[in-house]
Amino acid sequence: MKLDATDLRYVTSDEFRVLTSVEMGSKNHEVVPTVLIAQISGLRSGGVNKLIGSLAKRNLVAKVQNSKYDGYRLTYGGYDFLAMRAMSKRDSLYSIGNQIGVGKESDVYIVADLEGNEMVLKLHRLGRVSFRAIKQKRDYMGKRKSASWMYMSRLAAQKEWAFMKVLHEHDFPVPRPIDQARHCILMEFIDAYPLRQIDEVPSPGKLYSQLMDLVVRFARAGLIHGDFNEFNILIRRDSGEPVVIDFPQMVSTSHENAEWYFNRDVDCIRRFFLRRFRYESTVYPRFRSALNSEGEKSFKLDVIVEASGFGRREMNVLEEYMHAVQDDEGPNRSEEEEEEEEEEDSEEDGDGDEEAKLPASDREKGKARDEEESGPDRDEGDG
Ligand code: ADP
Ligand code: MG
Repeated sequence: MKLDATDLRYVTSDEFRVLTSVEMGSKNHEVVPTVLIAQISGLRSGGVNKLIGSLAKRNLVAKVQNSKYDGYRLTYGGYDFLAMRAMSKRDSLYSIGNQIGVGKESDVYIVADLEGNEMVLKLHRLGRVSFRAIKQKRDYMGKRKSASWMYMSRLAAQKEWAFMKVLHEHDFPVPRPIDQARHCILMEFIDAYPLRQIDEVPSPGKLYSQLMDLVVRFARAGLIHGDFNEFNILIRRDSGEPVVIDFPQMVSTSHENAEWYFNRDVDCIRRFFLRRFRYESTVYPRFRSALNSEGEKSFKLDVIVEASGFGRREMNVLEEYMHAVQDDEGPNRSEEEEEEEEEEDSEEDGDGDEEAKLPASDREKGKARDEEESGPDRDEGDG
């Protein structure tokens, strides 16, 4: 999807008012009736029609013809716009540059502030691929079926923000978090290559122990990354030091399947080092001893995050969603990458690189969840 920064500046205040009305209406309506949009915006309905028309032309809203009534829904473009506008109002974001990453569940752009300092904008896109399948499978959102992609994407961004902040404050090698709004986070640009793209390192053994030390450091602080692999580890171009990204799936070490997640992170690194650098070590961290090892035990980051506003309930909703997607579609990788890896594997020893399956207890989880989730966005300071 194209992001257009010029568009950001040429939306009139009435158009903006209509757009936020569509967003507010979509909290209770999958398709927001035109009369409701007019009502929320407080503008004359004749005027509203024209304004909606111009928003629809720019794909910020989309017309939906319903059997009962006609109305509009907010598009990804519209949601992107609202988030970016909130950031630009706060002067944290000024211009949008190239896209540097397209994940199944996020788009990543290089952006800049007024002084031209480069940053990274990550837009979460949960529900882009597979929400329909999930909807059929489970009564996912309780009463709140509408706008679920918006809600899930926002949760992912809030969670990633909460963790990035707390990790950065405690000197973990992660990008500096800069701002968060709706489904977006703004962070420091790291001049680096993903480990995935690196064929040779000066000392695989050194990097291996740096990464394993990180896994242990996370665990001692009460956390497990949960997706600690060659895609989410960046290697700085200048120093060769690793930087960890991508936190929406982090779990606490007090999670019932913590050990399983911990082992999966460790195994990812071991497998990658063997395959890519032919490096194997008999030394690797175990969950229990990592928890009991000496070090920064004075803080429990999982507890700090929970206290910071991203609570257990939000965590559970997101976790349940992620498992449902995983069940439906397998791990979060492109087919190409999977094929490539399968080839690499069969060249070697046939040692299965199969994705570990989640423990059954995890899949069953989340059934007894409350119907409604928490209140409105906390980032609409400009509404
Ligand atoms: P996803 O959830 O889609 O995997 P990631 O957070 O892993 O999203 O980001 C996707 C890609 O974008 C990364 O592999 C990396 O190449 C790039 N990227 C993400 N954050 C940064 C950053 N702060 N600095 C530089 N590149 C980044
Ligand atoms: Mg990633």
